[in-house]
Amino acid sequence: MTRPSPATPRAAHTATGDDLVRLLPPPPPPRLDSGTVTADPGILAAHRADHATFTPAGEPAALVRARTTADVSATLRLATELGVPVVPQGTRTGLTGGANAVDGCILLSLEKMDRILGIDPVEQIGTVQPGVVNAVFSREAAGAGLFYPPDPASWESSTLGGNIATNAGGFCCVKYGVTRDYVRGLEVVRADGAVMRTGRRTAKGVAGYDLTGLFVGSEGTLGVITEATLALRPATAEPLTAVAFFATAVEACRLIVELMAGEPRLSMVELMDAPSIEAVRAFRDPGFPPGIGAALLVQSDSAEAAADLSAFAALCGRHGAEVITAGDREESRMLLEARRMVGPAVESLGTILPDDVCVPRRALPDLLAAVGAIADRTGLTITCAGHAGDGNMHPTIIFDAGDPGQTALAQQAFDDIMRLGLDLGGTVTGEHGVGLLKRGWLRTELDPVAAATHDAVKRALDPLGILNPGKVIATPEGD
Ligand SMILES: Cc1cc2nc3c(=O)[nH]c(=O)nc-3n(C[C@H](O)[C@H](O)[C@H](O)COP(=O)(O)OP(=O)(O)OC[C@H]3O[C@@H](n4cnc5c(N)ncnc54)[C@H](O)[C@@H]3O)c2cc1C
Repeated sequence: MTRPSPATPRAAHTATGDDLVRLLPPPPPPRLDSGTVTADPGILAAHRADHATFTPAGEPAALVRARTTADVSATLRLATELGVPVVPQGTRTGLTGGANAVDGCILLSLEKMDRILGIDPVEQIGTVQPGVVNAVFSREAAGAGLFYPPDPASWESSTLGGNIATNAGGFCCVKYGVTRDYVRGLEVVRADGAVMRTGRRTAKGVAGYDLTGLFVGSEGTLGVITEATLALRPATAEPLTAVAFFATAVEACRLIVELMAGEPRLSMVELMDAPSIEAVRAFRDPGFPPGIGAALLVQSDSAEAAADLSAFAALCGRHGAEVITAGDREESRMLLEARRMVGPAVESLGTILPDDVCVPRRALPDLLAAVGAIADRTGLTITCAGHAGDGNMHPTIIFDAGDPGQTALAQQAFDDIMRLGLDLGGTVTGEHGVGLLKRGWLRTELDPVAAATHDAVKRALDPLGILNPGKVIATPEGD
């Protein structure tokens, strides 16, 4: 055996990474900094599911209420060590079962991370923790003369973390775009507990892959959002509001197709069909005239808002619709409230299966007609309200979950509407996300290569499959 030459210290060159790791002290065990853990059965039951009451929810093992990024990191490190699933949660207003527990999981609530960290009027950004409620942030931005446009109907209760994780839309997206368009950068905790920053605070920035975009709409399956930098816009003029009443929803949709092809450019175009109006009337009467087939609520926030609404009224006249313009801020608020009431009103009528198809705008008349035909065929009430200016409607099937016959009919109607949305050239979800509810339909919508790419991204970021397993994509075992 020859001795190594003193000029070539072989021992130093052949040490492996594992040798070096053995020399290092072990990492400190994960511990919660300031968050709390509970396994109280009553509390766990209250946090088990989101608003999609018809989707299955498992039995959680514990609830962690994180207060810091370190708490989230510690939770995920522990979960990785133990191989335990983790389900991130905002305020559980989701409509797809995305925040539902899976058996034996840790529910990781971000609700207590609810601080607005700053609003910068020069950069026109706000920095927030994920548990800040949308409306709280929007009001704070307005106080600084700025405007945060994404405004889901749940804006008084849903969190910005949940909005980002679902890429939520809302009323004024028709003019200003969806949540994705306002997320500049994120702090994200990976499945292994490592903390990373993505994106930028600056007005522009293209360094590297768009990791920020990857996490927007990932529904808690790729990482946990612990901070966000959100773009703001200068405040707009006080919007003017009008409502037009139509004989049928299909006629209202024909007007929308014409409206969206030209002027005026409105900041809200929301449709309520007759069953939605009836549901709201029974819940909290908005005072709409009796016997109408549809109501179209619009706003303009441009400097020429009055002229915009006059042009809208003229267009409505050609479609035989009566138009009422809100006389003041209170009337305007009441009209918007009527639209926001659709969700709670339909939830009060029974179990609901909400679709969320988004179709090309010119296909709206066909969508509304076909949904009406599905309701007639099944004999079930299907309300159809939504962000019609974006082609994003929420046909919502109301049924008695205790009646197996009705449940089967409701599932069939849901699937028929998903199929219809795709056949009309649209997508199975415009804003609510996939969650548990549309997992199978996502596979139908994606081509095989795109589906395999989804799976590869999931494996790369969550190799043990502990983050919100079974949501959005099939589990590695397939289901
Ligand atoms: C009455 C009503 C009206 C609604 N209107 C609209 C609407 O107009 N537009 C719209 O888009 N949606 C709407 N929704 C659906 C829902 O409010 C949105 O999906 C909302 O973005 C969910 O926010 P949340 O805080 O409740 O999140 P949750 O429901 O708690 O979670 C939603 C998903 O995000 C994940 N998640 C939550 N927080 C984080 C985080 N910090 N990091 C990683 N993942 C996370 C969860 O795992 C889950 O997959 C409505 C719901 C209701 C009940």
